[in-house]
Order: sequence, then C-alpha cells, then structure tokens
Amino acid sequence: MTVDQQRRTVHQLMAELLGLEAAIERSLAGQRETVRSYPEAQAAIERARDKAERQYEALRSRLQRDGGEVAVADHGAGGLASLLGVVEPSNATGGLFVSTILWHHYTAFQHMVMGYGMLWCVSHRAYDVRQDEPIFRLAEAHQRAYAEAAQEIVRLHADVLAWELSEEGQPCRCLCPTCSGIGICLCIGGGRSLTVGALNETANSEERGVLVRQLRKGDLADRAGMRQGDVIVAVDGQEVPTVWELTPLLEPFQAGEPIKVQVEREGGARAEITIQRG
Ligand SMILES: [Zn+2]
Ligand SMILES: [Zn+2]
Repeated sequence: MTVDQQRRTVHQLMAELLGLEAAIERSLAGQRETVRSYPEAQAAIERARDKAERQYEALRSRLQRDGGEVAVADHGAGGLASLLGVVEPSNATGGLFVSTILWHHYTAFQHMVMGYGMLWCVSHRAYDVRQDEPIFRLAEAHQRAYAEAAQEIVRLHADVLAWELSEEGQPCRCLCPTCSGIGICLCIGGGRSLTVGALNETANSEERGVLVRQLRKGDLADRAGMRQGDVIVAVDGQEVPTVWELTPLLEPFQAGEPIKVQVEREGGARAEITIQRG
C-alpha cells in the first residue's frame, strides 16, 4: 500500500469520526432538557455535549489542514445512529427514560473510544510521527475524553435506574438482609459496584514489561537475536514497565551505539541482547 493510500484511509476514518462527533453532539443537545429531572445526568450530558462540540471543531480543522475532504458522512442510517435517535418517553425501555438515554450514549462513547484507537494506530503508519500536531495526539485526547464520559455514565447509571424504578412505583422486593432486615435498600449500590467491578476486573491489566508483538525480519533487533514473544523488561539495566517508559530510554543513544536489552522468554528464562542503535 502506498503512503497516499494509507493517508486516504486516515482521512476516511477522520471523516467517519467527524460525522459521529456531529451526530453525538446533536443527540446530546436534543436530550439535555429532557433529562433535567435528574440534575447529575443533565450535567453529565451537558459536559459530554461540550466535548463533542469542541472535538468536532478540532477534528474538522485538522482534517482540512491535512487536505482531507470534509464531507461529513450522513449518520441518518446505521446501527449507532438508531441508538442516537432521540429517545422519547414512549420508546424508552420499560418507560425508564433517563437511564435509557444514558445507556445508549454509553454505547456511542465506547464506540468512539475504539474509533479513536483505530485512528491512533493507522496514523502511526501513514505519517512520520514527528509531524507538527500529529494526528495520533488528537486521537489520544479525544479517546480519553470519551473514555471519561463513558465512565461517568457507568458511575451514574445504577443510581438513576433505582430512582426511576422508585418513581415508577417499583420498589425493590429483594429479601437481602439490608432490604428486608434493616429496611434500607443497599442493593442500589450493589448494582453500581457490580458493573464497575465487571468492567475494571476484566480490563487488561498492564503486564510487567513490553511484549514484542511484531518483530521485523532481518531488522536490527532480529539480527541481534531477539525473538517474537520476548518480553522486554529492562533497557540498560533500567526497568521498563510499559512501552511509555521504554521509548525515552532509547533516545540518548547515537547511531551505532550498543543498547543492552534484557528480555524474559517463555518459561521465565532471562536473556540479554545487544542491539546496535540504527
Ligand atoms: Zn436487597
Ligand atoms: Zn433493595
């Protein structure tokens, strides 16, 4: 694939994300009044809308500066758009209006987290990362903003739902020792910590060291004896818990200088590999 084709892929993805930013902004703007019965939800919707608006502008001007076509894809059809359609009390699941709105937007925000992850990855292949205002930096910032907005919904959702069910005259009928034993429904908090726990405990915890996922055949590390599947644990004796600590350690080396890299192999064996800096 030529660099031009790779850049077209980047522009296409940016245009797609731009259309989604616009659709999310519109959808959140359409809901901000209707969720006013739950002020915390309204505040969360308002904050997310501000973000989407700013991100739309930032993405549009970055795409334009890069010579990409700003033809915003129409998200009138398609899976995500139907989620983002304005939720009316009549089409909310079981009449649970505010929690349905939050649920749908959570899905949209997670969709954007993945989309910006894709942009981060493909822009690394299409551009020298030393370009001014690299696209991957924008992708990082927007991804984080949507991850934050999604987490905010996770924290709110169970409380909103419990409140809505009570408003609808559906009190908790649980026979647990709190609800029936001491007369307080503490299961509301349980619903929330269940979701938070399921998400956090199943999230990939960063393993110690940096796994070599793709070793370029015939290139420097390969010739020095590194193997795919090795885990880099230290560079010149300094531990590298993640790739973010590793990269700066390589910077000071001049071309041709040896870099000592400690790796852990399958079965826990350690090896030291000396790579000549390219
Ligand atoms: Zn209970
Ligand atoms: Zn209860």
